[in-house]
Amino acid sequence: MKKIAVVGAGISGLSMANYLEKHNIDYHIFERRKKEDMAGHGFLLPQEGVEYLSQIIDCQLLFEKGNFLKKYIQYSHQGKILAEKDLDQVFAISRQALITILSQNISQEKITYGKAITLSDIEEGKLQSIDGSHSNADFTIIADGSRSRIRGEIFTEEKLRTVRESEVVNIVKNKDIATSIDNDFMKFHHEKGGLTFGILKLSSDTILWYSQFDNEKYIINECSPENLKAYMLEVFHEWDPLVFSIIMQSDYENVHLWHVYELEKLNPFYKENIVFIGDAAHPLIPFTSQGVTSALKDSFSLTKHLVEKENIQQAFKEYEEERKPEIETHIKNGRTLLNQFLLPLDQYTENILPISYK
Ligand SMILES: Cc1cc2nc3c(=O)[nH]c(=O)nc-3n(C[C@H](O)[C@H](O)[C@H](O)COP(=O)(O)OP(=O)(O)OC[C@H]3O[C@@H](n4cnc5c(N)ncnc54)[C@H](O)[C@@H]3O)c2cc1C
Repeated sequence: MKKIAVVGAGISGLSMANYLEKHNIDYHIFERRKKEDMAGHGFLLPQEGVEYLSQIIDCQLLFEKGNFLKKYIQYSHQGKILAEKDLDQVFAISRQALITILSQNISQEKITYGKAITLSDIEEGKLQSIDGSHSNADFTIIADGSRSRIRGEIFTEEKLRTVRESEVVNIVKNKDIATSIDNDFMKFHHEKGGLTFGILKLSSDTILWYSQFDNEKYIINECSPENLKAYMLEVFHEWDPLVFSIIMQSDYENVHLWHVYELEKLNPFYKENIVFIGDAAHPLIPFTSQGVTSALKDSFSLTKHLVEKENIQQAFKEYEEERKPEIETHIKNGRTLLNQFLLPLDQYTENILPISYK
């Protein structure tokens, strides 16, 4: 089998490595960040995501680190229940926990941290592990995230645009807050639209909260933890007491302001001996809750075609044909969910689930 270089050790790169391990295929991963900087916040995984994960990791370990959510409850900003829906095996987990679990099957010699790769490194055959044991890969899998620089250098015509939504996300370890909420996914909506507050319980002592802002209405200039706290307190001061008390009691050490990007039009998923997976192939907006599951499915599909086909170009082609239609559905659903988010509550349609299903 061929030698493979993987760029990026996020969920896509690590899940790819796990599938390659399973098939005894030789690879090496290059990651820009240092190992200790690989944190993040958290994810929702629909049932399908858990099924794909169960092929490559010990699910017992997964279930110990995260939480199945029972119900989705939609509230007005003042706490009136607007709708409820049972959730079918939707799992919440922190990014850090998932990264740690996915890293466990990969030997340390197979990852080089702290090395940012450029297109010229790939073209000039400079992808070498620190000890030089892995060089001259036959092809490269790019898993460097939604703002992939390598993708931008290859597909120079692409238009990556800012989405009309920004998110303030925080992960808070606080037993009092965690025990005060059930294993439900609670989401509060401002009646005029364009502002929400969501709460997910990740474990018995940790919650994740996030707030989605219409960034044309709410301009957040400063993003130091102190300024974000002050801004959150100001914007949410008349919301349901649970929301306000969580914002008030939270530690802001892990708070982060996310800007969201999308491609105006998808690029091909491969060119010559370079193939893209996960957000690098197709940034998905957070409304879909499909970023992780799509990354897992990309890794599964690409590995399957690589194993089945001698010819790499044919494997890439079949991978793209398999994955692109589903991704296009998620992009379409994501735009519908975004448009709904911008509308006043009384104009919402029936479908309340904040997840895109294919
Ligand atoms: C630090 C971080 C925190 C995140 N937190 C959340 C979150 O809390 N909730 C959520 O829904 N989504 C989060 N995301 C996005 C989410 O992980 C992805 O949408 C999804 O999991 C698909 O993952 P991915 O591996 O394709 O991309 P990413 O998770 O973005 O991973 C890409 C990886 O490639 C690395 N990389 C980038 N450029 C280079 C380069 N030139 N050379 C080598 N390596 C490179 C990055 O450091 C990163 O580790 C986060 C992403 C990052 C990078």
